[in-house]
Amino acid sequence: MAEKAKKSGEKKKVKTYKYKYYEIGDEKLKRSRKFCPKCGAGVFMAQHKDRLSCGKCGYSESTIVKK
Ligand SMILES: [Zn+2]
Repeated sequence: MAEKAKKSGEKKKVKTYKYKYYEIGDEKLKRSRKFCPKCGAGVFMAQHKDRLSCGKCGYSESTIVKK
């Protein structure tokens, strides 16, 4: 009867997989580091886990590939 209640202590923790992102992102970063299309060559986009952004003009671009 009370078996279900016993398990209530097991809370699922949602982990953030930052490390995973970096692992993948790092390789991508080295190969496809982009310049800001607005500022032009010489201004690199800052890498975030799912997008690039320009610190100069604020332009941002998603790096998630949509199918
Ligand atoms: Zn820019």
